[in-house]
Amino acid sequence: MLISLIVKCSRSFFCFSFVLLSASLFAQSGYEYQPSQQDESKLADSKNKLDLWQKEQYKEISGKDYKEFHKERHEHLVNKIETGYYIYDDFFYVRLNKILQKIIASNPNYTNLDNTEILVERSVVPNAACYGNGIMVFNLGLISRLQNDDQLAFVISHELSHQILNHVDGSVKNKIDYLDSKEYKNKIKSIKNLEYNNNTVYESFLLDLSLKSSGRTRQKEREADSLAIVLLQNTNYKLNESLNLLAILDISDEPKYADTIDYKTQFSADSYEFQDAWLLKRNGLAVQQEYDQELIDSLKTHPDCDLRISLLEKNFKLPPLQKHEIESVFKEVTIHSDFELIHSDLLDGRYGRVIENGFVLQNYYPDNDFLTAAIGISLAEIYFAQKNHSLRQFVPLPDDDYNMNYHRILLMINNIRLSDLKKVTLAYYNKNEGIKSTSHDEQNEHLAYASYLYLKLKNSELLEKTKTDYLTLYPQGFFINKLKTNK
Ligand SMILES: [Zn+2]
Repeated sequence: MLISLIVKCSRSFFCFSFVLLSASLFAQSGYEYQPSQQDESKLADSKNKLDLWQKEQYKEISGKDYKEFHKERHEHLVNKIETGYYIYDDFFYVRLNKILQKIIASNPNYTNLDNTEILVERSVVPNAACYGNGIMVFNLGLISRLQNDDQLAFVISHELSHQILNHVDGSVKNKIDYLDSKEYKNKIKSIKNLEYNNNTVYESFLLDLSLKSSGRTRQKEREADSLAIVLLQNTNYKLNESLNLLAILDISDEPKYADTIDYKTQFSADSYEFQDAWLLKRNGLAVQQEYDQELIDSLKTHPDCDLRISLLEKNFKLPPLQKHEIESVFKEVTIHSDFELIHSDLLDGRYGRVIENGFVLQNYYPDNDFLTAAIGISLAEIYFAQKNHSLRQFVPLPDDDYNMNYHRILLMINNIRLSDLKKVTLAYYNKNEGIKSTSHDEQNEHLAYASYLYLKLKNSELLEKTKTDYLTLYPQGFFINKLKTNK
């Protein structure tokens, strides 16, 4: 399971990442989740800003490889904007950019920050990143683990510092220049000319390069931490929340919610018997949560949090850490992030994840219509995918490296026969009458789509009518494409 946490950041060439964090649990009851609505005008503004930046900067730079990097970075971001990776809404987007603007306005000495903006990415990885071209990205998985705006302000300030210090473009430029240098070319030539052992020498040369580079990266993280505090000193955000944030980061190898899901109980109904064997591995053994100590140690030392905390304490005389809870005004931000992540998984067809996280959140928000509908939709979609031989498009094979809850739901999907999967799905719907009903007092798109899938499972003659009703009621609905391609 820990493997899944060591996510190799595919965009590492383009950006500086903040690295992972985690937070404590809190019990809640009742949350009315409304999915974030994409504001198309905000999206268009953001793309224009990015195009403008690219156009202006591109004129200034020289060197084929460096120009290529600029072009690729721009295309990478535009592509992600266009394919819906980022949320442009009034809730996350506006909140984060407001804090950013406050920090910028309080630090007028730093110019050229007008085009800076924060994008919120539908990613569960607890991370933030600076792309070096004015764009900073905050993942929902990070926002969901914070405790207050002050911690948010510190991460924003840290990413802004990478921008001010030109860390991204600077290190790419250095790398390109080095690969182009006489020193590098001579070194490679001399390795090639070695009669023996040239592979080993080459490998140790590469290792040496990567160690030097990771040392420089750590140094840049510390510089960004320091400048972040300097910037925040001109605002009224609480400076020592930076220490709490880094402490949260330090336990990022633990999942946010540690609950174990009892699938047998969840899927049990009067009408049929849940078979324990569905949750067993091929060798007949049950899945155990295993922690690889070596991996934990390397994760602990990698983010370097203890050292970053002590450096900030020492250099800025910050008062020592005070452990505290999530601020009540901030709770909605983290809850909304958790729900929005499930919604994103649902739209992208990561149905195993929806079932796993849906059940976990149900422990905190029982009787939540959205969660029940999301689980029902996922079960039904998995059934239809299995039936159409397209299961692997949506659900990966079970793997020990996944966390226990996810691994077990994948095992169940993998082990169960199609006819039993239909029974499990129908039993789930029968247990949760609300998601079967085709008429709802209030508009609820997820319930409407769940009930459509129920009728489809039952081969009901009401199916076409329900489809037409959905399309009339939700002309811009989230499930329009799924409905149109559904036979
Ligand atoms: Zn950083």
